[in-house]
Amino acid sequence: MWTYHEPAKLIFGVGAAENLNSEMEALGVTKAVLLSSKSMFRQGIPQQLAELTGGKIVAISTEVEPDPTVENVDHAAALARQNGADCVIGLGGGSVIDCAKATAAAVAENLTAAELVRKKDVKAALPIIAIPTTAGTGSEVTRVAVISDKSAGLKLAVYSQALFPKLALVDPQYTASVPKRTTAATGLDALAHALDALSSRKPSPVTNALAQKACELIVKNLEAVLEDGNNLDARAGMSQASTIAGLAFSQTGTAGSHACSYRLSIEHHIPHGEACAFTLDRWVEINAEARPELRQIYQAIGFENEAAFAAWINRMKAKGELRTTLRECGVTDRAEIAAFADHALKNNNYANNVAQIGYEGLYKLFEEKF
Ligand code: NAD
Repeated sequence: MWTYHEPAKLIFGVGAAENLNSEMEALGVTKAVLLSSKSMFRQGIPQQLAELTGGKIVAISTEVEPDPTVENVDHAAALARQNGADCVIGLGGGSVIDCAKATAAAVAENLTAAELVRKKDVKAALPIIAIPTTAGTGSEVTRVAVISDKSAGLKLAVYSQALFPKLALVDPQYTASVPKRTTAATGLDALAHALDALSSRKPSPVTNALAQKACELIVKNLEAVLEDGNNLDARAGMSQASTIAGLAFSQTGTAGSHACSYRLSIEHHIPHGEACAFTLDRWVEINAEARPELRQIYQAIGFENEAAFAAWINRMKAKGELRTTLRECGVTDRAEIAAFADHALKNNNYANNVAQIGYEGLYKLFEEKF
């Protein structure tokens, strides 16, 4: 038995964001706070959307850091409360969208961000509109927000049906300005979502079809966007892939590559997508052993076998100038490998992975990458 539940309305394509005014009318919202980044503000995009919606955006904030913090959420929630906001718009990468989701819930639940990220049953949120400017996280179609509490040294994920955006406007032209390394990291994050969905313990025919399509689009378009960031057709392919991979992992959860990423992000500040890509090539091989039908999917997207697919992933990492050894990530002491294996083993995403390789297998995986 399987289910598929995805409540976000999705509008995709160049010019998608031009629908913002009519969609806000359809949602019945009139006072939105828009969260974004300084890079988007410099390009004038939040200001254009404010003009387009004729007064429905009552405040704009660009105070969201990459890997957003509880302080970022509290700041945005205060702005929303002061303005009596009835909607939160996130125009940015996964960091801005996650901050918008958490802000919408903090306001509706009347909680501080530190309380929100520790609450198990978040039930309410203001309507959320997500407008991604990276092609990677798929956060515009998921029910999770990842927020850091730096004083406690924690990166916490809040899961709730209330965090599904009401509307996702995916306009690939907004991703044209993403720098090369971020393009590589986010593109491989989308691939990690698709491959983790395929190798999760809860795949369904729908998530498998979505994940395979996302892989196909990434294999077709990632190299082209790394060579020419202004190639809008390839950018559109990557934006589609990212959202479609999000539609897959929103149901299955993520698995091995994500389990191995968190210590790299938390302790060594490696960006999320780069950290997921770090072991992704090896999971492609390990999971094909455990679930041989994955080989048919790898072949359908153009790879003779798992080794060829892994080699392609490594080539994309090199092209995007991503780190591929623990030493490059700042791990100088071999003794830390044990902590990486232990952290991954205890992570829920590892339990969701089809191949269970145990502490020894995880240790070997990180040791190969020292
Ligand atoms: P990001 O949002 O942190 O952005 C990375 C950098 O790129 C930032 O400096 C940002 O300002 C900049 N940037 C974004 N768009 C740009 C553009 N169009 N032009 C120029 N610069 C731009 O990166 P991300 O990978 O999109 O998001 C990562 C965050 O998302 C992490 O916190 C991760 O944990 C979270 N995440 C959430 C989900 C989910 O479903 N909620 C899934 C995966 C990851």
